This record gives sequence, structure tokens and C-alpha cells, in this order.
Amino acid sequence: MPKDQLQGIKDEYDVIVIGSGLAGLTAANLLGKQGHSVLLLEHHYQLGGMATWFRRKRGHIFDISLHGFPYGMIKSCRRYWNREVSDRIHQLKGVRFDNPQFSFETTYDRDDFTRILQEKFDQPKERIEQFFDRARSFNFYDDDGMTTGEFLEQCFPGRNDVHRLLMEPIAYANGSTLDDPAITFGIVFSNFMSKGVFIFQGGTDLMIKLMKEECQRNGVDIRIYCDVEKVLVDSDKVVGVICNGRRIGARAVVSNANLKGTVQNLVGEEHFTREYLDRLDKVRLSSSSCQVYMGLKPGETFDYLGDLFFTSTLDHFDSVALCAKDVTSRTFSCYYPDTRPGLDRYAIVSSTNANWADWAYLSKEEYETEKQKLIDDTILSLEKYLPDIRPKLDWIEAATPGTFTRYTKTVSGATFGTKFEGLDVSKSMPDQIPGMYHAGSVGIIMSGWLGTINYGVITSNEVDIYLSRNQTV
Ligand SMILES: Cc1cc2nc3c(=O)[nH]c(=O)nc-3n(C[C@H](O)[C@H](O)[C@H](O)COP(=O)(O)OP(=O)(O)OC[C@H]3O[C@@H](n4cnc5c(N)ncnc54)[C@H](O)[C@@H]3O)c2cc1C
Repeated sequence: MPKDQLQGIKDEYDVIVIGSGLAGLTAANLLGKQGHSVLLLEHHYQLGGMATWFRRKRGHIFDISLHGFPYGMIKSCRRYWNREVSDRIHQLKGVRFDNPQFSFETTYDRDDFTRILQEKFDQPKERIEQFFDRARSFNFYDDDGMTTGEFLEQCFPGRNDVHRLLMEPIAYANGSTLDDPAITFGIVFSNFMSKGVFIFQGGTDLMIKLMKEECQRNGVDIRIYCDVEKVLVDSDKVVGVICNGRRIGARAVVSNANLKGTVQNLVGEEHFTREYLDRLDKVRLSSSSCQVYMGLKPGETFDYLGDLFFTSTLDHFDSVALCAKDVTSRTFSCYYPDTRPGLDRYAIVSSTNANWADWAYLSKEEYETEKQKLIDDTILSLEKYLPDIRPKLDWIEAATPGTFTRYTKTVSGATFGTKFEGLDVSKSMPDQIPGMYHAGSVGIIMSGWLGTINYGVITSNEVDIYLSRNQTV
């Protein structure tokens, strides 16, 4: 890497974006398109944040967070990125479940779920329709405090198996639990149910490459290996950042870094009111996750296992058990050659929700032992479905909550940002410090690739208005 990553930068920009996660990239791209001068600073050597990938010897390439997102990604990518990005989004064929309560495959949309709830769970059509309509009617502005658990119990009383069917994939998609507000479930579930589950064909590396090119076409100055140490505030408004030890001026700053880290480390609590800090204190981070990445030897294949396969050995659904170190539930994401056409490789990624605290305080030896156990148990559980898989595996490695913190500077390995209360705190940051904005996975409904991109759009619009109103530095 060149010695000075900031070589040739300007002294002052209209806006500096800290972090190139999907929210940061989207905000930077739109602000560049609107004609503002934009500097995007990323501490890692790769853009994308958690939307990322890694390569290993013998041609292996693994995606970290390319498991599935709702249909709405096509519209958002077409509108806020370009057709090259949106045209590569395609639907997954099959979502499978296997647990002591039920076992089947579905296209994971409203029609198929209506059929399944009638045929396999004996639910009357009218009740199912009412459930879907209620779930779709939830919106941000009328949160009545009901939890997802209460909502599911009202709709399907005493049916833990139905609750599991409806909730387990959502818990994997955004780390939410039965205790989170029902509106978060309603919005995310309805988004998925509109048309099923989609992914980006060509892999995360291609998507981020296309996004980087679009940003550059829109004039965004992109710098990697650039760690922002401080956001500078003067006379109560944002004036720039310190990055790699150097001061760079800006009329506005968008932080795509973790919400708590932004306030506590980047800006500094002294710039916020006590009332705001009290609200921040109450923000809970979402759970984290562990992955086991398994790449097959070149030329080796496995029989179709579904694209997303939710498995569990627990005889009932339980949000706490889903994150427990003693793993009972795993989701296998299966990558067939059509994920990356032309590469002709097969891979499987196993995901389990996890608690940061279970991994954060282990000694180095304990950590390695636990990681190996995670790998061993995962292969054993995969062998139940693919008995001949072990000798076909060529590359196996695991990631834990600590891995996410290391690469994306998330606080406590929070894979899906913050719980619901984080959204309000994130949105009201500019009321505290004019010119200081936040965009990223917060509030569950703004989590995941789609939610995060959409939040980047919302924030960029606000920054655009602020910059237009405050023409002079
Ligand atoms: C294992 C896993 C699986 C997932 N699966 C899915 C999925 O299948 N579908 C889906 O829709 N979503 C999935 N998600 C969630 C999704 O990936 C995230 O919600 C989304 O990518 C987060 O984007 P973001 O913009 O909030 O920020 P992040 O991705 O967290 O990016 C923040 C960026 O800021 C940078 N940064 C932080 N601090 C600084 C600093 N001081 N200076 C410079 N740079 C800094 C970081 O390096 C990082 O690049 C998954 C997440 C994980 C971890």
C-alpha cells in the first residue's frame, strides 16, 4: 500500500463519509451525484463493510453476508445505483426447514406460506389472511408497544410451531427476538413475503466493484486504509475530521460507523446533551453471529439442499436458545455454480446467531478450542443431510463475533446494528450537532442490505438539504 493514503486530497469537502458499508457507499454516491464534493474514508483495505467477501488458496471465495434479502433491493438498486447492479439480483429457488416440529421446502412468499399454513399447520384461510394483512399494516409511526411474541400469539394462539415458521428466518435475517416490537417483525417479514428471497448473482465482490465504479463516476473521492480518529466540532457544528493523523475540513459528516462508537469515540460525548446520552445509553445492540465457511474441492459437487436451509434440533422455538453457545440451530446457505457463473464452484456457509459475551472473554487457547468445536459440530450436523460431504471439503474456517468487530469496528460484534430504539437516536444526531449525520444498520427495520441502503438514501437527502441551506463554511 502507498505510504500516504491521503495523498492528493483536498483541504475541504462538502461532506465526508466515514465508512463504506452499504449505507455509507449509498449516501456518498447520491451526494456525489447531487454535485457535492464527497470524500469517503474507509479504515479497511476493502469497501463494503459487512457486505464483504474473502478469498482463500485454491480459488475459494466466500461471501460474508450474501444469504438473502427482499425483492425491494431491485427497486432500490435500480433507483439509487444503476441497472448493472439491479439486473444481477435474482431469486433463490428454495428455502428449506428441518426441525422436530416440521420439515419442508418453500418459495418463501405469501402464496406459498398461505398454502403451507393451511395444509401443514391446519390454520383457517381467514386467520392467515388476517395475519398477513395485519403484519403488512404495521408502520413506523403507529408503534403501540406490542411485541412480536404478543402479535404472533394473538394471531396463532398456543402454536409455537407456527411462531417458529414465521419468526426463525427473521431472527436470522436481523437478529430480532420475540421481545422486539411487532412493527419490526411486520415490516421485515412483509418485505420478504412480497416475492420471496433474493441474492446478487456474481458475488459481493462484483457488486461492490460496480458500486465503487458508480461512486467514482459521480466524483466521490474514495480512500481505503483511512481510519477516522475524530470528528471535529467547532462552535457547535461539524467542521471536519482527523484521519490518519491529518485534519480534513467538511461542512457535513456522515458516520456509517456503529452508532455508539460514533457518539462515544468519534464525536465525543461532551458535544451531546445529557438527554441524548441517556437515550443512547438505553440503545441495545443486536445480537451477533458465528459462521463456518466450507469450500468444496474443485470438481466436487453436492446434491441440491435448497438455497437457504434452516435446521434445528430443538423441539420448540426459543429466541434465547437461538443465540446460545450450545448451538441447536444452524442455517446453511448453499452456493451453487450459478452464484458466480463461470467459476463452477460449490460452497456452504453455516450461520448461527450468537452472543458477543460468549466469545469476547475467552483466553486465546479457549477461543481457538471453541472455534474448532464450532467447526466440528457444524460438519457433523451437515453430514446428517450430506453424508459424503466431509472428504469433499477443501477449505474450512470459522468467524465469530470478534471477527466482525476486528474488520468493521462494530461495538460488541453487533452483526445487525441496534435494536429499535437506536433509530430515533441515529436520526436525531443532527439536532444535536448541525452537520453531523449517521447512516447504518439501526432499529432493525434499517438493518440488512436493503434497510441499510434505504437509510443511506434518507440520510443523503437530509445532508443535501443541510448543505443547500448552509452554503458558506
Ligand atoms: C454474518 C452476517 C450475515 C449477514 N447476512 C445478511 C443477509 O443475508 N442479508 C442482508 O440483507 N443482510 C445481512 N447481514 C447484515 C448486513 O450485512 C448489514 O446490515 C449491512 O451490510 C450493514 O451495513 P452498514 O452500512 O450499516 O455498515 P457496516 O457494514 O457495518 O460498515 C461500516 C463501515 O464503516 C467502517 N468504519 C467504521 N469505523 C470507521 C472509522 N473510524 N474510520 C473509517 N472507517 C470506519 C467499517 O470498516 C465498515 O466498512 C449480515 C451481516 C453479517 C455480519
